[in-house]
Parts: sequence; structure tokens; C-alpha cells
Amino acid sequence: MSRSRSDEVFAAAQTLMPGGVNSPARAFGAVGGNPVVIDRGEGAYLIDVDGNRYIDYVLSWGPMILGHCHEKVSAAVHAAVDRGTSYGAPTEAENRLAELIVSAMESVEKVRLVNSGTEATMSAIRLARGYTGRDVVVKFAGNYHGHVDSLLVAAGSSAATLGVPDSPGVTSGCSQDTMVLAYNDSQGLVDAFSEQGERIAAVIFEPVVGNMGCVIPSDEFLAALRQQTEAQGALLIVDEVMTGFRVAYGGAQERLGIRGDLTTLGKVVGGGLPFAAYGGRADIMDHMLPVGSVFQAGTLSGNPIATAAGAATLEILRDEDPYPRLEELSSRLERGLSAAATDAGVDHSITRVGSMMTLFFNPDPVTCWDQASRCDKEHFARYFRGQLERGVYLPCSQYEALFLSAAHTEADVDATIASAAAALE
Ligand SMILES: *Cc1c(COP(=O)(O)O)cnc(C)c1O
Repeated sequence: MSRSRSDEVFAAAQTLMPGGVNSPARAFGAVGGNPVVIDRGEGAYLIDVDGNRYIDYVLSWGPMILGHCHEKVSAAVHAAVDRGTSYGAPTEAENRLAELIVSAMESVEKVRLVNSGTEATMSAIRLARGYTGRDVVVKFAGNYHGHVDSLLVAAGSSAATLGVPDSPGVTSGCSQDTMVLAYNDSQGLVDAFSEQGERIAAVIFEPVVGNMGCVIPSDEFLAALRQQTEAQGALLIVDEVMTGFRVAYGGAQERLGIRGDLTTLGKVVGGGLPFAAYGGRADIMDHMLPVGSVFQAGTLSGNPIATAAGAATLEILRDEDPYPRLEELSSRLERGLSAAATDAGVDHSITRVGSMMTLFFNPDPVTCWDQASRCDKEHFARYFRGQLERGVYLPCSQYEALFLSAAHTEADVDATIASAAAALE
């Protein structure tokens, strides 16, 4: 598979942008070689600038649950563009998408629309601090909540892959009110609350982790999260930027039967455009300006093109309910990958929730960052390169989840399993 044009474009990119990329997760630092320069997407496929075709399991790191260029989403975007690209004033389109979010997510009574997942988590944290009058935020090692200064501590995926758990430029003042605990450690959470409970404004967590690879919370951990926060007057912020409309239409909260006070959304909810949201209990949300006094604003927030793409995507998900089929297809891929790894004599474990999963090069089940960090990353890199050469585009890090879309077919999955068997040899 030649990628000479891709290499040329990437060489030029490196002279123009740091590392040639606009987000470090796109660099192939952990797996070697140059990133693939994409020309276009088509359903479940990406086509690079050399004309090579790949089955896409990155899906823009989650958003493209309907595949690329879904006819109805594209039509909605085109129609929106023709009416002007931004007004900085209220629109009916915002109501339509806010209404879809509020009816999908049981714990969300009111919502604020923003432009990125980072903005959503940053704002939710500010709101939680403003609402409770407390400073400390609890997060879990290996959970990623965007590049918010105060949350860029033990932040998983990109940060971990690059070996920069704490970024230069984040002052100690920013992170001193962030408490980092181990995921799935209920006792650690109980201890933290018994020592510092009255200082804790919020606990933020990924309800199914995607950013240290796919990791599942235990029922006990989920119960402790809700119980401790409630008992001590702290808010529970469920970061559903990755899981919202992905692991179920109502997100991880529907799938796991939990309920947060605040929820952050991004990725799927924007249908592939820069869009995100945070929302939750109306009495908390009404602490935001202009009703309350917590400040947060955005020139392009609720942008008409983004809201059109988001609303079209959610309506299709609601009306066509692709989730049962995604479950079957993903289970087929999980079984196939696991069998291929076993046949090749590869020590592995595999974690899946709905259409997100990770094949860990680690014989033990991964339940926290400590275990995730012990994976055989060299072996992952060889597997990744083997798959890429066979036309399978996977996330370029052991610490990321792969995704399936409604556009993937059984034939795509079977081809992926066959190429995995060859790549794992
Ligand atoms: C991707 C992600 C974010 C950050 O969203 P951006 O749009 O990249 O800023 C936050 N939280 C989680 C759980 C994510 O997966």
C-alpha cells in the first residue's frame, strides 16, 4: 500500500503546524510511521489522498455513529448553510436540539450548548463550584475530560501516550484543587469523602471509560459515586462526551441505570461538527448567567450548522434505533478479535460496551489506569501497523477505544477479523 502523497502532505504539514497535526491524538507517536492524510469519508470507510481505502474504526474519535456522509445529515447541513452560518441570536434549531437532548437523557432537564467537549466539562466544573461554593474536584486516573487546566492531571490517552501526565503550562494553582483517585476503587472514594467531604464540589468521571482504552465501572463503584456525593452535598458530573448517544440513546446513564446531577455531552451529539453541551437538574442549571451568576459564554454557541447536524443525527438514532444491530455487530467483532488473538497465542483481554471496545495486550482484565499502563505497547504498535497495511484504520494508541458505526456491515467486521488474524501472526 503506497502512501507517497500522504507522506508529502504530512511533511508539508510539519513545517506549518506543530507535529503536523491539530490534535496530538492524531500523531502516530506511539505506533511509528506517518499519519494517514485523509481525502474523504464514505459510510464506514476512509479514503486517503493516495486513493487507499480503509475500514474506519476511529470515526473521528467517536462522533460518526451513522458513518460518514449520511444522506440525511448532509442534507440538513446543506440546508442550514444556505440560511447563513451564524447569527449570535436565538434560533428555533437550538430548541429542536435541546429538546431532543432533554427527552433522551433522563437526568438532563435544562441544557447549555457549547462548541467542544472541553468547553462542556470546564463549564460544568465551574458551575458545580459556583453552585456548591466549594473548590475541590475529584477525578479518576486515566479518565480524560478534555484539556481543561484543572483536569489535565492523570488524564489518560493522548497525555499518557505522549508521557505527559501533567502538562507544562498548567500552574500548580490550577491543579491544587483537583484530587485524583483510582477508577473502580470504591474504598478510596469513601476515604476521600470522609477526610475532605465538605470541601468537595464535584466528582467528574467517565461512566464507561474510553480514554485509557475501554474500561467498565463496577456496580459497587457506581453506587459509591452516587451515594457519597449525595450524602456530602457534592455534585456528580457524568462525562458522557464519549458515551452519550453511543452506548445507548440515553447514554451510559440509561445503559447502567445511574443518574448524575450534571452531564457533559459532545462527539455524537454534534453529528461530526464542532458542538457539545452540558446540562442537568434545572435548579443547578439556573445558576448560569443570565438567570444566575455563574459566567459562561460563546460567540458561536448553538451554531446553526452544528445544531442542524446534531439534530438530524439524533432524530435518525431515535427513529431508526441502530443500537441492537450495533450490539450484535460489535459482539461479532469482539468474539472474532478475541479468537484471533487466542489462536495467535497472544496474551490479551478485551473490553466492550456496546459499540466501543479495546483489545488490550495484557492478559489481565483492565479495570483501572494502573493495569492499563502495564499493556505491551510494542505489541500493540505492531498489530496497529499490520492492520493499517491491510486497510483497517484503528485508533493509533492502546489507550483508546475503537468504535463501530451503523454503516459497518458484517462483511466489514469479518474482513477485519481476518486481517487481525494475519496481523497478530
Ligand atoms: C473527547 C472527550 C472530551 C473532550 O472533548 P473535545 O471535544 O475533544 O474537547 C471530554 N471528555 C471525554 C470523556 C471525551 O471522550
